[in-house]
Amino acid sequence: MSKTVPSSMALAPSASPPKEPVCIFGTGDFGRALGHKLLQSGYPVVYGSRSTQGSSLLPSGVEVLSHAEAAQKAAIIIVAIQRQHYPFLTSLAELLRGKILVDISNNLKLNQYPESNAEYLAQLLPGARVVKAFNTVSAWALQSGALDASRQVFVCGDDLEAKRKVMDLVHALGLTPVDQGSLLAAQEIENYPLQLFPMWKFPVFLSLGLTTFFFFYCLTTDVIYRYVQEKRDFSFLLAISIPNRICPILALILLAVVYLPGVLAAILQLYRGTKYRRFPAWLDRWMLCRKQLGLVALAFASVHVLYTLVIPIRSFVQWRISTYTISQALSNKTVPLDTTNAWISDSYLALGILGFFFFVLLGITSLPSVSNSVNWREFRFVQSKLGYLTLILCTAHTMVYGGKWFLSPSSYKWYLPPPYMLALILPCAVLVLKFVLVFPCLDKPLTQIRQGWERNPQYPE
Ligand code: NAP
Repeated sequence: MSKTVPSSMALAPSASPPKEPVCIFGTGDFGRALGHKLLQSGYPVVYGSRSTQGSSLLPSGVEVLSHAEAAQKAAIIIVAIQRQHYPFLTSLAELLRGKILVDISNNLKLNQYPESNAEYLAQLLPGARVVKAFNTVSAWALQSGALDASRQVFVCGDDLEAKRKVMDLVHALGLTPVDQGSLLAAQEIENYPLQLFPMWKFPVFLSLGLTTFFFFYCLTTDVIYRYVQEKRDFSFLLAISIPNRICPILALILLAVVYLPGVLAAILQLYRGTKYRRFPAWLDRWMLCRKQLGLVALAFASVHVLYTLVIPIRSFVQWRISTYTISQALSNKTVPLDTTNAWISDSYLALGILGFFFFVLLGITSLPSVSNSVNWREFRFVQSKLGYLTLILCTAHTMVYGGKWFLSPSSYKWYLPPPYMLALILPCAVLVLKFVLVFPCLDKPLTQIRQGWERNPQYPE
């Protein structure tokens, strides 16, 4: 008895249909890496090169032809050549008419040319359908398969059909195409790989500036002052004591800097009576790098915790404790426990521990894997409410710690206030402003403004 095969199975293809060949101009690093990836994904690859000799570096199974011959073999041509060599392509203008030319090039500087490389290619070859893609993927990542960080491929082009075909190709290579619109977007896409941590610049420069300022401030008050006035060498404080002063100060100031632009934006909206006017560019940029500012602040707080943990094993601290104990023993005196001091010391430690705990929680929720798993309201709750709670705890930690010295004249060396006092200015200002903004007479109109209400509507109903 013969077996009957279901008709659906009979119709199912045994293998995926053969893929159309892809041509790559240029057998350099990127051309080779992309050719390798295309071959792995089942695409026949033909290279257009100045030399048809081939090279041992090229993946096996590819054809190497002249540019003109290779161009005739494929509808999609990847131009893996530096921009300065593009003019030779004009001699192939007729052959390239109607072909999809994928520009993958990058430049050495931001906005190096008046027009993007892709637009330049389109000007040179008006008959070709130019699409920008692949420029944010490195040859190394393509070849080694280490594409976790750069799986996204930004694609743009004026010809929708050509762009769709390139996006299908990107997809077939296991990458994620991201449509960026028309060829006008090419300049921006070409600038992406040249940007060096754009969101980190302000936080890094600000912390460098503040670190330098507080370092010299503490050096003056803790080392130079003592050397000049008391002729004593306290330069060893540079190793632990001074960094352990700078770190908490920086952590606190930077945390306040995270919340200051939100408060300023609220004041601006209240003053303008609308949310439909753009914030000044500096405020916009400041708001965009709040996460980075917060992470730098957390890094300083963590270093402060580490420095604090080693305090008991410091030789200077051990010497001070033993000298004090011996002097008590010699004078046969016992100082009773000062419960006020014990309270102050325990309170500032408790506030510091809680502040650091919430600080870490804020840092964890800012990680993409965590922030993607909470909804907008939950994210706002953590970043705003818990953020302010952290700021309050850390400010209180500093106040309780420095409080007893703020009023003591001996703390004002050369009339300079203790550095903790300077560190408290910004956090206190932010907290006071936030406190004022919470009053219903301000909070209510602000909420209305954020929901679209305008004091002087531009388009009256
Ligand atoms: P490359 O190693 O220097 O290769 C460029 C290729 O262009 C050469 O191998 C050569 O191929 C061809 N070429 C050189 N001079 C030429 C000329 N006068 N006329 C015609 N063809 C010429 O450069 P690459 O690293 O592969 O980069 C190629 C393009 O990809 C660049 O625009 C770059 O910005 C972009 N890109 C590179 C990477 C990367 O990681 N490398 C990443 C993203 C984008 P033949 O000898 O076969 O003719």
